[in-house]
Amino acid sequence: MSMGTETVVARLKASGLLQTKGLIGGKWTDAYDGRTIEVNNPASGDVIASVACMGEKETKDAISSAYDAFGHWSKLTAADRSSHLRKWYNLLIQHKEELGQLITLEQGKPLKEAIGEVGYGASFIEFFAEEAKRVYGDIIPSTLPDRRLFVLKQPVGVVGAITPWNFPLAMITRKVGPALACGCTVVIKPSEFTPLTAIAAAELALQSGIPPGVLNVVMGDAPSIGNSLLESPLVRKITFTGSTVVGKKLMAGAADSVKKVSLELGGNAPCIVFDDADLEVALKGSLATKFRNSGQTCVCANRILVQEGIYEKFTSAFSNAVQNLKVGNGFNEGVVQGPLINESAVKKVESFVQDAILKGAKVLVGGKRHSLGFTFYEPTIIGDVKNEMLIARQEVFGPVAPIIRFKTEEEAIQIANDTNAGLAAYIFTNSIKRSWRVSEALEYGIVGVNEGLVSTEVAPFGGYKQSGLGREGSKYGLDEYLEYAYLIFVYTEARIHLVWRKIEL
Ligand code: NAD
Repeated sequence: MSMGTETVVARLKASGLLQTKGLIGGKWTDAYDGRTIEVNNPASGDVIASVACMGEKETKDAISSAYDAFGHWSKLTAADRSSHLRKWYNLLIQHKEELGQLITLEQGKPLKEAIGEVGYGASFIEFFAEEAKRVYGDIIPSTLPDRRLFVLKQPVGVVGAITPWNFPLAMITRKVGPALACGCTVVIKPSEFTPLTAIAAAELALQSGIPPGVLNVVMGDAPSIGNSLLESPLVRKITFTGSTVVGKKLMAGAADSVKKVSLELGGNAPCIVFDDADLEVALKGSLATKFRNSGQTCVCANRILVQEGIYEKFTSAFSNAVQNLKVGNGFNEGVVQGPLINESAVKKVESFVQDAILKGAKVLVGGKRHSLGFTFYEPTIIGDVKNEMLIARQEVFGPVAPIIRFKTEEEAIQIANDTNAGLAAYIFTNSIKRSWRVSEALEYGIVGVNEGLVSTEVAPFGGYKQSGLGREGSKYGLDEYLEYAYLIFVYTEARIHLVWRKIEL
């Protein structure tokens, strides 16, 4: 273990935020058979900690605890649930630094970006602390006389939340915030690569007074935990963020007991730079959307489409900027690009770049593993890319910007929509007419116009096509955790009279 890592680990242990057990019914629990799984620092391979490796039995107990807690939590007043969420939010913000360090340690992103994730992640808890007070239904006039229909919004029940490694905190809070606000209880299964942040967030939830069982954390054997969540009749909703392959499996598995499902899956974002774009704005936006988190973000630009009139100018300025991105350990000063999550992620990037080169694309910047070795990859730009190449068909999930040249607006829209994904897209133009026209023609759930950073707690995040089902964040995000029930209420004079008489008796 390098000295830097040792110091950070020691500090986090002392703060009580680096823990290794799962949380079941408010009790920190080892795996029942004592198994553990190592968590590694992606920048060095050092073992940070060995955490409980749980499976079916622990998940069943976590589900039972969540089910028991549901009886109490769903009956609290909205104001009480809101107050609990608010206290949790305050603690997350109070421990921003330590949580950021944990994220850099187990996920690798630069510390500043990691602390930014804590702020973003916590914002979902704050937002839904307020939304908790606004979960109310409607009264609908009936088509028949003397009656009304009351629409009630009820919490779905126990939720199974399965999350990825690229945003170890925010992908959890984006689910747990609305779930708890609606009165649901949750079993979280974080990624096996980044369980430490999830455990720390749960510790702070306990400290904030959120009752035992409302939030449970089980980690370890993903298929076994996943199957237990899918098979249990007590789990009424599965919410998943991760790869499209696993999302499809979970959706199929949820069919048997007809659970509600929401999926936030992979993207293949086009970033379209038109001739009439402001070059500086387009450069800043493209850099931000492509290279943050080393390109390991579902909304990262996966293809940069540049119109022929600005192609040379943009590509040369973009290359200059990308060459100067500082790569290194996320704890080092000035680093803007950390490592990839693991060796297989680097191998995937290498194979995509190789495929593009073999098919005629040209490396303009980078194009190989960084001299730092291990999981570091050079910030890379590949020119002359065609939409048929692997690098443009699938999520590269690394710091590689493939550039595709186009002539007309129609061609750009056609290339952008020629994919199974539909999460985020970006356009850079100074024409208001074009920005509306193109945004509406793009088959994407999120469109950034002259903006490379699109994630916010106040808007409904989610994708078209195979990028997912449902939305997270904003008032629309509440619907994923609610059942709508209606009551038909007849108020004839006679009935009202009978009711009164009954009361009098
Ligand atoms: P992944 O699908 O490999 O893993 C996601 C989670 O699913 C992990 O917790 C993993 O342990 C679990 N899992 C794996 N197999 C399972 C199974 N059989 N049953 C139950 N759970 C199982 O994805 P990842 O590599 O962790 O994350 C990267 C992917 O996530 C990318 O495709 C990225 O685009 C996507 N992502 C999407 C969004 C979004 O909002 N749309 C956000 C972040 C990441």
